[in-house]
Amino acid sequence: MACHSRPTTIVLSVEKKFYIETFGCQMNAHDSEKVVGTLLAKGYSQVDTPEEAGYVFYNTCSIRDKAEQKVFNRLQSFKRTGKGKIFAVLGCVAQQEGEKIFDRAPHVSLVAGSASYTKLPEMLIQLEAGNKRVTGLSLEATEAFDTPFTRRDNPHRAYLTIIEGCDKSCSYCVVPFTRGPERSRTSASVIDEATKLADSGYTEVQLLGQNVNSYRDPSPAGWDFATLLDRVGAVPGIRRVRFTTSHPRDFVKPIIDAIDANANLCNHVHLPVQSGSSRILEGMRRLYTREQYMERISWMRGARRPIAITTDIIVGFPGETERDFEDTLELLDEVQYDSLFAFKYSARPNTGALKLEDHISEEEKTRRLAVLNERQRAIQIRRNSELIGAVEEVHVEGRHHSLGQWIGRTSQNRTLNFSGHEAEAMIGTYLPVRVTRAGPHSLVGESVL
Ligand code: SAM
Ligand code: SF4
Repeated sequence: MACHSRPTTIVLSVEKKFYIETFGCQMNAHDSEKVVGTLLAKGYSQVDTPEEAGYVFYNTCSIRDKAEQKVFNRLQSFKRTGKGKIFAVLGCVAQQEGEKIFDRAPHVSLVAGSASYTKLPEMLIQLEAGNKRVTGLSLEATEAFDTPFTRRDNPHRAYLTIIEGCDKSCSYCVVPFTRGPERSRTSASVIDEATKLADSGYTEVQLLGQNVNSYRDPSPAGWDFATLLDRVGAVPGIRRVRFTTSHPRDFVKPIIDAIDANANLCNHVHLPVQSGSSRILEGMRRLYTREQYMERISWMRGARRPIAITTDIIVGFPGETERDFEDTLELLDEVQYDSLFAFKYSARPNTGALKLEDHISEEEKTRRLAVLNERQRAIQIRRNSELIGAVEEVHVEGRHHSLGQWIGRTSQNRTLNFSGHEAEAMIGTYLPVRVTRAGPHSLVGESVL
C-alpha cells in the first residue's frame, strides 16, 4: 500500500529507459537490433548514455581476449556509480563465463547468451519482479532467434540471419561454445522476412551466419544456400544481396553460378583463409588445405562478373614458423585480396589450441601482423588504382559533411565517396559514379549523372 502511495512517475521513467552497447561482429550488431526491438515492444525506450538509463545492456564478444576485457572494464567503471541501475551482460562473454560474471561484477543482474534470446521477454519479467540474478545460458535452442520486433539501425541495408551457431570446431575458436550448434531457418521464413523488408523500403539485405553457406533448409523444400541466395535476389524490390561469412569447406561452385546469373547478388565474397600454410590449417582444424582453398579462388576468378574477394587471417597461431608465415604472405600475393582483417592469435578458454606447444611471443605476433598489413596495403593501393576511370554503381549511404562528399558503396563492397550531384533525398538511392582517385581503403569519384 505504501508502495502505491509513493510518487512513482520519475522513478518509473528512468527504469523504463535502456542503454545498449554492442561489441564484436555483425551477428552481434543484428542480435542487438532484435533485443532493442523486443524491449521497445515491451514499452521501454532507448537512450544514448548509460547515465540516463535504468537498464544497461552490454552485448559482448569473446572471440579475442581484448574484446572480453573491454566489457569487464565497462562494468568496473560503474561499480560505484551504477547504484539503482540494472546491468545485463548478453552474448558471447555471457555464454562463456556464465554465473562467474556475478562474482566478478556483483552489480550485474542478467547474464544471457544469444541462444536464449527467445526467452528475453520472460527474463525481463523476472528482472521487473526484482529478481537480482537471472540467467539464460541454455544452448539447447532448437530455433533461430526470430522476432517480429527487430528494430534495424540502418534504414537502407538490413541484416537478415539465416543460420545461427557453428558445427565446426576450429581449434582456436570459442564460437561453437558461445553460440551453440548450427540451426538454419526455413526458406519460407527467410523469403517472408526479405519480402517484408522490401515492402518497407529496404533495397539491400545482408544474409548473416557464422558460416552462412552451411545453410540447409530444414523444411521439405530443402533449399541449399545457392538456391536461397538466388531466391532472395529475386524478391521484388531487393536490389542488392550480400552474405557473410562463408566457410571455404562448404563453398561450392553453384554459389558462383548464382552470382553470375543474378545481378542483384553482390560481386563480393568474404572467404576467411586464416593461414596460407596447410600445416597450420591442419593444426587449426580448418578442414581444407591451401590447395583446396585456391581451387575456390580459381572458381571466383573464372566467373563472368568481377568478384571482389576478402578474407580473415590469424598470425602467430601456436607453432607458426617463419616459413609458415611466409606461406601466408605468398598467398596474399597469389590471391590479391581486395581487403582483409588480420588478427594476432589469442588463446581462448575451452579451445583445443590451448594444448598446443610453441606459443609465439606477443612481440613476434605484433611484428608479423605489421608485416602482413604492410604487404596487403600495397596490394590494395594497386588494386584500387586499377579502378580509376571506371564507372561503378554506388548505393548512397550518407554524407561526409566535413569533406562535402556523399558516401557510397559499390557492389564489390568498396567505399566510393563522391561529389558532383546534389539532390534531395540522395541517401538510399543508386547512382553511377566515375572513380577519379584511389587510396588503400577507399575510392573517390564524381557522379556521372
Ligand atoms: N566462421 C567464420 C570462419 O570460419 O571463417 C569466422 C567467424 S569468427 C567470428 C571471425 C574471425 O575471428 C575468424 O575468421 C578469425 O580470423 C578470428 N578469430 C577467431 N578466433 C580467434 C582467436 N582465438 N584469435 C584470433 N582471431 C580469432
Ligand atoms: Fe569459429 Fe571455425 Fe566456427 Fe568459424 S568455422 S565460427 S572460426 S569454429
